[in-house]
Amino acid sequence: MLSEAAIAAFKSSLRGEVITPSDSSYDASRKVYNGMIDRHPRLIACCADVADVMAAVKFGREQGLLVAIRGGGHNAGGLGVCDDGLVIDLSPMSYVHVDPRKKTVLVGAGALWRDVDHATHPFGLAVPSGIISTTGVAGLTLGGGIGYLTRRYGLTIDNLLAVEMVLADGRFVTANAKENSDLFWAVRGGGGNFGVVTSFLFKARPVHTIYGGPMLWRMEDAAEIMRWYRQFIAMVPNDIYGFFAFHTVPPWPPFPEHLHNKKMCGIVWCYTGAFKKAQNVFKPIRGFKTPALDLVGPIPHPALQSLFDRLFTPGMQWYWKADFVSTLSDEAIAQHVSHAEKMPTLESTMHLYPINGAVRRVKKNATPWWHRDVTWSQVIVGVDPDPANRERISTWAKEYWSALHPYSAGGAYINFMMEEGEDRIRATYSKNYERLVKIKKRRDPTNFFRVNQNIKPS
Ligand SMILES: Cc1cc2nc3c(=O)[nH]c(=O)nc-3n(C[C@H](O)[C@H](O)[C@H](O)COP(=O)(O)OP(=O)(O)OC[C@H]3O[C@@H](n4cnc5c(N)ncnc54)[C@H](O)[C@@H]3O)c2cc1C
Repeated sequence: MLSEAAIAAFKSSLRGEVITPSDSSYDASRKVYNGMIDRHPRLIACCADVADVMAAVKFGREQGLLVAIRGGGHNAGGLGVCDDGLVIDLSPMSYVHVDPRKKTVLVGAGALWRDVDHATHPFGLAVPSGIISTTGVAGLTLGGGIGYLTRRYGLTIDNLLAVEMVLADGRFVTANAKENSDLFWAVRGGGGNFGVVTSFLFKARPVHTIYGGPMLWRMEDAAEIMRWYRQFIAMVPNDIYGFFAFHTVPPWPPFPEHLHNKKMCGIVWCYTGAFKKAQNVFKPIRGFKTPALDLVGPIPHPALQSLFDRLFTPGMQWYWKADFVSTLSDEAIAQHVSHAEKMPTLESTMHLYPINGAVRRVKKNATPWWHRDVTWSQVIVGVDPDPANRERISTWAKEYWSALHPYSAGGAYINFMMEEGEDRIRATYSKNYERLVKIKKRRDPTNFFRVNQNIKPS
């Protein structure tokens, strides 16, 4: 039992706010991005600095509380919040410091990717991240990080230079290639299993205005486009990135009215090569089959990153299932098309994110992220604002995933999993799993940090 005196003492030891169920801000504070998640923590510690994080870890340990760590709150499985325990909320720590001379970026663990994009863009720099600006830096990075710059510059973890973190025993440490190198290895894909990361130091890349955006084709052309795409993306230079998607066209500009609410297939491109070559690079793409809609052109990197923000707003119902995929057979393509035709809502979608290119420059055991030799990370997502549609979107995603799973490579991107059990986690880390277990045993032997895709210490 938590005493009122203990809570009062905890509150007075923090610079940030401690929110309890009796506070008017409690309901807003316990909400995460996925509207399906409805958890009621005992306390939410909004940490203003490292000292607050250290105090929160100490308090959680002394009081025997279940502890969840929240960065951007985007995790679809709701791993940024827990029932009846303590949430360590890092959102107040959202600073971003760019060092244009060294081309590095220091990011507080509560920042969102849009904070990083905003701070780096004026310097002609970017950190490889995802495809949505509202995702948290912390969770995305700790799981790996796949997005528009992946083929050119690798996963987000391949651009991570150091972290600072608070461990289960309360110590504050730096982890990089030289100091606490076991932890530095483990946090590059091993999620929130090893401590509360308070800051990330990234290498920034020269990215400013790119040539990209969406191209859409009609559903009747989808199988042909997929067959062409599977070969194209395997062969092209790393400065060309394009993820394949099934989407319903949103009923708002810049989409023309005659396409509104139509189910279509598309590729969202991001070319980071020389501008003068862009027209030539895209000639064979446009020449293969004229798109029904072509919105590809020069676009600032932060604008590309936020293209989907209007469609995917916080608080919607999310259910997703994922797999890694090495090859797209004709049979798999037929299954894709048949299930995509049944997409249940405007926001529901399927994405195939390429993870070839620069990802393969890093050895499979250099970080926990084992599946560097597959071609795509596939995610099937049922989304809708209305809780009444929860079953409908989940059933569609599960049926679609079940039909495609036999064609997959084993394992899935850890950040695209919900609650799927230990076997799936093991399959994802594959031969790196035992090393993660050893580090967990050394650094968090009681499994204090277990609200995550958990690596058990035994
Ligand atoms: C709309 C949407 C789009 C997405 N797009 C992409 C994408 O393009 N590319 C991609 O790679 N992923 C993408 N994701 C997945 C995303 O990477 C995960 O959902 C990730 O967990 C989000 O991180 P967060 O900090 O926002 O999550 P949170 O819910 O805050 O945290 C998730 C988990 O991360 C761990 N964690 C968070 N902060 C810390 C910390 N400071 N220290 C230790 N552990 C911590 C904890 O275990 C926590 O339980 C997307 C998700 C959504 C919902």
